[in-house]
Formats: sequence, C-alpha cells, structure tokens
Amino acid sequence: MTKRRQPLISAAMVLLFLSLPPPLLSASDDKEWDPISRFQNYLRINTAHPKPNYTAAVEYLTSFAATIPTLQTTIFYLTTPAKPLLLITWPGSDPSLPSILLNSHLDSVPAEPSKWQHHPFAAHRTGDGRIYARGAQDDKCIGMQYLEAIRELKRSSLDHTPLRTVHISYVPEEEIGGFDGMMKFVETREFQDLNVGFMLDEGQASVSDEFRVFYADRSPWHVVIRARGAPGHGSRMFDGGAVENLMKSVEMMMKFRETSFDLVKAGLAANSEVISVNPVFLNAGIKSNDGYVMNLQPSEAEAGFDIRLTPTADPDLMRRRIAEEWAPAWRNMTYEITEKGPLRDFKGRPLMTATDGSNPWWAVFNQAIAAAGGKLAKPEILASTTDARFLRQLGIPTLGFSPMKNTPILLHDHNEFLQDSVYLEGIKVYEHVIRLLSSFDETSVAKHDE
Ligand SMILES: [Zn+2]
Repeated sequence: MTKRRQPLISAAMVLLFLSLPPPLLSASDDKEWDPISRFQNYLRINTAHPKPNYTAAVEYLTSFAATIPTLQTTIFYLTTPAKPLLLITWPGSDPSLPSILLNSHLDSVPAEPSKWQHHPFAAHRTGDGRIYARGAQDDKCIGMQYLEAIRELKRSSLDHTPLRTVHISYVPEEEIGGFDGMMKFVETREFQDLNVGFMLDEGQASVSDEFRVFYADRSPWHVVIRARGAPGHGSRMFDGGAVENLMKSVEMMMKFRETSFDLVKAGLAANSEVISVNPVFLNAGIKSNDGYVMNLQPSEAEAGFDIRLTPTADPDLMRRRIAEEWAPAWRNMTYEITEKGPLRDFKGRPLMTATDGSNPWWAVFNQAIAAAGGKLAKPEILASTTDARFLRQLGIPTLGFSPMKNTPILLHDHNEFLQDSVYLEGIKVYEHVIRLLSSFDETSVAKHDE
C-alpha cells in the first residue's frame, strides 16, 4: 500500500546555502547571446548513471541563473553531498498565493558512445540543426528552456513581474526512481513551505504538430515469482517439477499480457491505458563447465516481470491475482512484489490530474499554449513513470509537458537528438506558459489540502 510518510526532515539538516567555487563552464560570459550554445554546454556535462556529475550541472545552472536579475538559488542535500537538488526561485509580488513549480531532473540514463553517430556528450550540432546528446530530449531541454524563458520575460520591454512565485527544481536520481531526489524533497518542511499550487514536469516528444500533455503516469511493480519442486533425472516424467510449476504461471501471465495487448492492437486502448506485464528474466538450470547439466531437472526456477499499473488499476486485485493465480503456494510457489512508488494520493484517490473544468490550472495552461500558437493533443497517460507521481500523491495538480513537436521520440535511445529550431520554439512556448501561470490571480484556487 501507500508508503507511510517519513517524519519531516529538519531544516538544519537539508538546507545549505550556496557557496560554490567559480564554475569551470560559465553560462554567462561570451555565450550570452546564444541559447543554443548554453544548451550544448549543459548537455556536455555528463550526468548519466551510474556516475552522474551533479555538482558540475548544478554549478552550470547556478552560474546561468546568476545572470538573470532577481532569481534566488538554494541547494538542498537530501542524502549525500554528491546528490544536490537545486531550487531556483523567481519571487512573485504576492508570495501568499500558491506557487508554480517547474521541474526537471539532472540525471540521464547511460549512453553507449560506440552506438552513436556523434558522441553522446559532445552535443554536436549538425549542419541541418540537429543537436545530438544524451539528455537532449530527456530532459535537459526543459531544464534550460525554463531559465531561458524567464530570462526573456525579464529582458523584454514588458519586464514581467510574476504575481505568484515561480520555482524551478532540478532534481537528482529521477532515472533510478526518484527515491533519493523528489521523493525525499516532498517530505521536507522546506517543500511544504513552497506552497506549490501547480507543477509542470517532463513530458515526451510528439511526432505530429500537436504538443503532447500527460495527466498521469503508470506505476511500476517489479515482480519475481519462484517455483520449487522435486528434482529428478532428466529422463523421468513426473508431476510438480519446479520448471513445470513456473511455466504454468508464465503461461497465465503471458495470457494476461495478450489480453491487454489485444486491446491495444485493436485500437481500443493506448499502450499506457492498459496494465502491461512483460517478462524480463528467466532463471533455472544447474550450471556446468560448458553450459547446463542436461540430465537433471532443477528443484528451483524463477522469473521476473516488469508490470505497469494504470492509475485506476486496483492494486488489491492485482496482489490477489499474483498470490492466488500466478504464484500460488499450493503449487509450491513464492513471490516478491516491489512497488516503485505510490498508487493513490493522500486521500486514496488515483494519481491523476484533472484535465477539465474542475482544474482551473488546466484552463490557464491551455490558454498559454494557444497564445503561443500551439495545439494540444488529447491528454494522455504516460506509459512510463516520472517524479510527477510524488506531487500528485500530495494532491498537487501536475502535468507532464515537454514542448517538442514534429520530433521523433528518442528518449533513452541511441542518437537522441533535438532540432535547434524545436528547442528555440520551446523557449517561446514557456514564455507564454510561465507568464500566464504566474499571473493567474483566481483567488478561489485552493491550496492543496493537507
Ligand atoms: Zn526524464
């Protein structure tokens, strides 16, 4: 079930004000006029797992933020000094109003340079404007675009002053579950004090000319089932062997998978609207020097599955299905379920953000996209998982959005790239989004109830 909330961490433990040596890579000096160069410089900082260089990324962002008047910078160390969380704040004229939070993660998944046309951390820009880099789409683009947009809003003749305070968070560890990043941050008193009314988090590229927007994530479960049975000579046929027991379960799980997948193939549901069950490992057999012992039926066998639950899926039903059908004790089976995050919010509701009239932020967001000359596709559930779930758990309306249209979906792929013109258009989109969200003055918008 839902994880019990940890006691609030005391301010003294987590809050350390900025005191950093001068950055190696400066975002401010000669590149001042060029958002593309600044984006490339950010992409060149290797924050891929397993050894993300968070410190360099935070230094770089901090040095850029320092060139934009009125921005304030705070660094939190929620676990170790190697895993900073950067918060940049643009104070609003009415700090009593719920604030806007723009989130991105500092880390990225690994990349294998030998499989790329251009080195994944060189941020090479081709003649036709493609910027190749790990993180170009997921999600260093939005991290820099937020700042570039605020810079433009400050520079333009309007010199926009937000009514509501705008925060940008740069969190570590998202790609490995967010447990040492956003999950810990939302448990702090400092986070509560931000009084966040609405959050934008990462989305995904769109291959059409409509922007995609996500109102929920699917929630991952890692499930391992294990079977035991009498060992036996390879020549014997007998009932209840471990592999036989395991295969019965695997067949049932694959049948469940087929039923979900048939709905997708028939066009009746999107991939993200069904529960997915995918086998990720099978393990059985007794090793020999040159492979496996062939004349022995093993007494143990196991299989691992990546299961993704839709926001409205019933977790109790799923647990019962696993216990009674997929790994029943009467067939000598055991199982382990690792739930990778919350499934319901603090009021027991599915983790979904309303995309209708009941959510006033939705109307403002739509208005901003229209003002930017953009079109939104039908709101979707994200097939994978982001840090948005930790905010939705608190009842904070959160949308996933990365302004990349007419762009192939390349997150976590080889040769991840983003077109320079798409990146620059995204800055414009955020100028509208940040301007409208931060000046939204409907006082009836309730603070998220605790
Ligand atoms: Zn991401």
